[in-house]
Amino acid sequence: MANGGPVEHGYPHLRTVRESVTALYRRLSYDTVRTFSASVAPADVAFADVDDLHLGAQRVAREMVAHYRLPDARLIVGFREMTHAANVELTAGPEYFVELNDRFRDHRRDIGAALAHEVAHVYLHRLGLSFPSTRENEILTDTVATYLGAGWLLLDAFREDGASSQKLGYLTPEEFGYVLAKRALLFGEDPSVWFTSPQAYTAYRDGLARARRDAEQPPLRAAGWSGRLRYARDRRHAQGHAGAPEAGRETAYRFSADGHGPLRVSFPCPTCHQRIRVPVAGRVRARCGLCRSVLECDT
Ligand SMILES: [Zn+2]
Ligand SMILES: [Zn+2]
Repeated sequence: MANGGPVEHGYPHLRTVRESVTALYRRLSYDTVRTFSASVAPADVAFADVDDLHLGAQRVAREMVAHYRLPDARLIVGFREMTHAANVELTAGPEYFVELNDRFRDHRRDIGAALAHEVAHVYLHRLGLSFPSTRENEILTDTVATYLGAGWLLLDAFREDGASSQKLGYLTPEEFGYVLAKRALLFGEDPSVWFTSPQAYTAYRDGLARARRDAEQPPLRAAGWSGRLRYARDRRHAQGHAGAPEAGRETAYRFSADGHGPLRVSFPCPTCHQRIRVPVAGRVRARCGLCRSVLECDT
């Protein structure tokens, strides 16, 4: 896990974040994702500065191992001076050595956040789920930690005051907020009550607005009128009637016609981001085969 440097904002990794959510559903299945309906509770990972450092770190590690359902995994947590915030050695197990940066000795309340990320590495390693590059894997790890209910701690560890800032993980605060909001929308959860950091709360609100917009894109019926107008124009163009799409504008939906078949449109599922393909035929109800969302469309 990385450490330090200026805090990046916005959504620079959104594409990989969304690919991570799709990959998670593909690997786990909808039914297994549903079993993660309970998030790590704040009380389970509470760590006061008067608690014994090593016993406390082991206790929080056990909570994380239980959360990710890794019954036989044993984490051995140590502290040392290092550039990174934390690191885990991914071996065959069942013992995994996690190193935490020495500064956590004085920032014990953030040990849960660091372990949420490191134990997610162990979980993904056991699942055999990975992306080609190191950087993408770190984004996958943060996304999975957050989507499965442990990563809200990483967002809550983001704090800024006049003189200093702290952030853990590879996603920006807004991206953490976005993934957390996607989870909240799926499970009907309200994570905002757990935040101790005002900056984390702000980032969550931003991410929530962004996540809601995913469900308001054409051809979904919840799309706003301006989106629908553009969609109608793009559809006319695809049907070969009139009007070219505006240059340089990117849309999530794509029209396609293979040979003499009817025109079809594909778009990302607002929940799992797998692409859904339906015929252009007015009002259509589609069901995502991956996350089972029922999607009301006006194609
Ligand atoms: Zn990592
Ligand atoms: Zn889906």
